[in-house]
Amino acid sequence: MNRYTPVTEIKGVGEKTAKLFQKLNINNVGDLLAHYPRDYEIYEEPVSIAEAKIGEVCAVYARVLGIPNQKKIRNLVILNVNVRDDSGAMQLTFFNMPFLKKVLMPGGYYLFRGLVQSRGATMIMEQPKLFSLEEYQKQTNRLRPRYALTKGLTNQAVQKAMKQALTFYAFDKEYYPPEIMQKYGLLPYKEALHATHFPVTYEEMLTARKRLVFDEFFGFLLLLRKNKDMTVQMENGYPMFETADTVRFVEQIPFSLTKAQKKVWQEIRDDMGSAGCMNRLIQGDVGSGKTIIAILALLMCAANGYQGALMAPTEVLAVQHYESIMEYTRKFHLIFKPVLLVGSMTAKEKREVYEKIATGEANLIIGTHALIQDKVKYQALALVVTDEQHRFGVRQRETLVEKGENPHVLVMSATPIPRTLAIILYGDLHISVIDELPANRLPIKNCVVNTSYRDKAYEFIAKEVAQGRQAYVICPQVEEGELEDVENVVEYTEKLRAALPASIQIAYLHGKLRPADKNKIMEEFAAHNIDVLVSTTVIEVGINVPNSTVMMVENAERFGLAQLHQLRGRVGRGEHQSYCIFISSKENKETMERLQILNKSNDGFFIASEDLKLRGPGDMFGIRQSGEFAFRVGDIYTDATILQQAAEAVEQLLVEDSGLEKSENEGIRRQLQQLSVWQEELGRTL
Ligand code: ADP
Ligand code: MG
Repeated sequence: MNRYTPVTEIKGVGEKTAKLFQKLNINNVGDLLAHYPRDYEIYEEPVSIAEAKIGEVCAVYARVLGIPNQKKIRNLVILNVNVRDDSGAMQLTFFNMPFLKKVLMPGGYYLFRGLVQSRGATMIMEQPKLFSLEEYQKQTNRLRPRYALTKGLTNQAVQKAMKQALTFYAFDKEYYPPEIMQKYGLLPYKEALHATHFPVTYEEMLTARKRLVFDEFFGFLLLLRKNKDMTVQMENGYPMFETADTVRFVEQIPFSLTKAQKKVWQEIRDDMGSAGCMNRLIQGDVGSGKTIIAILALLMCAANGYQGALMAPTEVLAVQHYESIMEYTRKFHLIFKPVLLVGSMTAKEKREVYEKIATGEANLIIGTHALIQDKVKYQALALVVTDEQHRFGVRQRETLVEKGENPHVLVMSATPIPRTLAIILYGDLHISVIDELPANRLPIKNCVVNTSYRDKAYEFIAKEVAQGRQAYVICPQVEEGELEDVENVVEYTEKLRAALPASIQIAYLHGKLRPADKNKIMEEFAAHNIDVLVSTTVIEVGINVPNSTVMMVENAERFGLAQLHQLRGRVGRGEHQSYCIFISSKENKETMERLQILNKSNDGFFIASEDLKLRGPGDMFGIRQSGEFAFRVGDIYTDATILQQAAEAVEQLLVEDSGLEKSENEGIRRQLQQLSVWQEELGRTL
């Protein structure tokens, strides 16, 4: 077996399972092996019922009291079972498992494992797993991988397929030379992969993970260096000077630029007018006002008779940029002739736009990856702006740049990256920072609460809506099934419709909808035809609807702090007081401590650094700081040390063998070729 072998060649994987795998983007054995566990479950020692803590997953060994009580509500069969041990009692509820009625004998002892919750004064578990004591003891204290799943595919099935794949996979020869392996304490790839999926101990898993993270960073940085010689400054092929257009625009917009915005705008003007080509990154926290700076740069470009392009990672965001620039253009009679280019447009629409781009009729092109398709030929592309840069692969930015002849480059990111890391990750860019928020902003009011607060939160949302405001509610998953015990958008929307007054318009949004539908819903929300939007994190980046004042996040414990901060950034974008409600369904100390950081601060840089302190490298595949670089395993914050090591290794390698011609580096050279494919993948968007 190699990475291209279809999954159907794995023993036990038929057409049906293959279809399910496909839903998870797993087509071949390579994809499967890279489907790393989301996290690991440890079957801990059983506790007595008195010791069981509400909000935690526990195992109890208890006796069944009386005959289980079964009832049917519509098509749901509910089985209630009372159990007790010497220390206390508990009520268990099973759904659609009628056969258990015969299995659970009154007076019999069983081991039940599940999330302990409370209903009034009663301790309950819903849908616990059932074991005999011997069965459970065999598995106690071992790490068990938990994979991202889809409806119909069990964790068990993924584990089985994974074991087979690991056994029959023909691993390449180790590709690092021994010096690198030794110097950085790397496990051989084969062992690392085994130990990632089926570690025996926690330590073993950590070492395995380090290898995978190192690989990812090493490959990323090597490609970055190979793609571009960063020491050469390109000559400015499109020298620009400031015209009355930008001056007038700055005076016309209904707010004045902050000091930080003015400074960055000055840096950009200097760059574009200088002898060299601009290569600049604007870092600014969510809501700091990066868009207006981009528009100014694009306006200066258009005023000098050139074309500019603005690329966003999602259609929703591209459309939003287009709409707001259109509005500015109409209102202030700007010289923009903008076009929108996104994947969901019809072939005919696209052709018309291509034409306008090629002839130069359009001087501003706004869109998604559609901007870098082969068919798009620019007339005089002089400025390339990428918004939310971290969502793109470097390769994609480069492709857009290659569409012109050394155009100026401006990239924007809300990711708070410490300077040392930024230099590694964006080695070729100058960095500008917008380090203040517009003055009209009221600080967002935050609260971190448990699920019992939900009804109050709904009341609060209803009140805000009654006052003309709008709200977001975020759930971690699209529909039931992928994760256990987690709210999903589709069902949640139903629940919310029942809980809120009928006059409130509620809609939902998630990544699996067709792009055109997503755009439509976002437009409706922006136009305030929708009051409450239930969504996954698709709205995490860039969305700007300043009338929204409430952000409620369900299962907040599932998200990285940086991601929660991005989500929070969707409110507090206008003059109204805004609120953020983080609902946590886990109440253990660490979760609460982590979420309290958000409660204390609205500052992205501070949050990222605190998060780093609290999170050991233990939370690895589970919580992701997504919203930053789309690394699969690595996390630039928690793995900052590994990132630095990888950077050092790449540097050393290229100093000694810049062409990778030495025989000991042959493995790396081979790997690099495969990485180019992987790079494309990095650019995957929502
Ligand atoms: P981000 O930096 O997150 O991309 P945006 O550029 O979308 O933020 O700006 C957020 C909101 O703030 C927008 O509605 C924008 O018009 C507004 N804004 C930008 N700059 C200022 C400013 N100096 N004063 C007041 N509002 C501003
Ligand atoms: Mg933005």
